[in-house]
Amino acid sequence: MKYLWLFLLLACPVFAEQGPFPAFFTQGQLVYVPASKTDSLTVGDKTLTPFNNHFVFGVGRDVTEPVKIIFNGTTFTVPVKAEKWPTDYVDGVPPETVQPPAKAQKRIKAEREKLAKARQQSSVQALPLCFIWPVEGRISGRFGYRRVYNKTITGSSHSGTDIAAPAGTPIKASANGVVVLAEPDLFYTGGTILIEHGSGLFSSYSHMQKLYVKESDKVKQGDIIGEVGATGRATGPHVHFVLDWQGVRVNPENVLKKDCSL
Ligand SMILES: [Zn+2]
Repeated sequence: MKYLWLFLLLACPVFAEQGPFPAFFTQGQLVYVPASKTDSLTVGDKTLTPFNNHFVFGVGRDVTEPVKIIFNGTTFTVPVKAEKWPTDYVDGVPPETVQPPAKAQKRIKAEREKLAKARQQSSVQALPLCFIWPVEGRISGRFGYRRVYNKTITGSSHSGTDIAAPAGTPIKASANGVVVLAEPDLFYTGGTILIEHGSGLFSSYSHMQKLYVKESDKVKQGDIIGEVGATGRATGPHVHFVLDWQGVRVNPENVLKKDCSL
C-alpha cells in the first residue's frame, strides 16, 4: 500500500501555480487575468489591452503545447491538461446538410468568409466578466465532442453548446455588445446572430427561427434577440451557442452563469 502512494506521487506530474496563473489550463478554457492599467501581457504573438481590470484570452480545444505568456516582462509557461473528448452520434440529420451538394459549395464558402470577416471587427472597448445562458433548457450537445452524423460521416468537433428548448422560446443576449452579423438563413447554422463584446470576445446564436435585431444594433445582457428554431443543420429546436476569443472557441459551459447580478 505504501508503495502505491509512492508510485502515484511519482506518476503524477507536479504542477504549481505560477504568478497570477493557475498550475495548468484546460482545453477550451477562457482565462481571465486580474490586471491594472499598467500591467502588460502577451500570449503567443498577441499583446493584450486590459479592460475592466482584466486581461482575457482563450485556450483552444486542440492545444496540447504549454501556453507561453509574458506578464510584466516575466515569461510563464503554463501546461495544458488534455481532455479525452467523447464522440456524439447525431442521427436524423438532413443528408444534404452533412454532405452538401456541389451547387451549395459557393454559398457555404461565401458565408464562411462573411462570418470570419464579422469576427475581425473590434469596435467595442469593453470586457464582460460574466455571461448568461441565452435560454434555459436541456444541454443536447457539448463543446469539443467529436461528431459523427447519420452513423457514417465524421464532422468537425462541436464548436459550442447546444441547448434544447421549444421553438419560439426567447433567446437572450449573453452579455452587452454590438450585433456584427444577423443572417436569417445560413446553410449550416440557419438563423444566426453574432455579437461582439470587446477584448476579442464574440458570442453566436444559431438555428433561430426569428431574429429581432440587425447588424450594428447595440444590445444589453438579457435583451431578447430572437426565437429558438431548427433552421439550418438541426434535428430539432435548439440554440447552438458559441463563445470565442479571436476565433478560438472556448467551452461555454465553464463560463455561462444563470444570473450575473449575484
Ligand atoms: Zn451545435
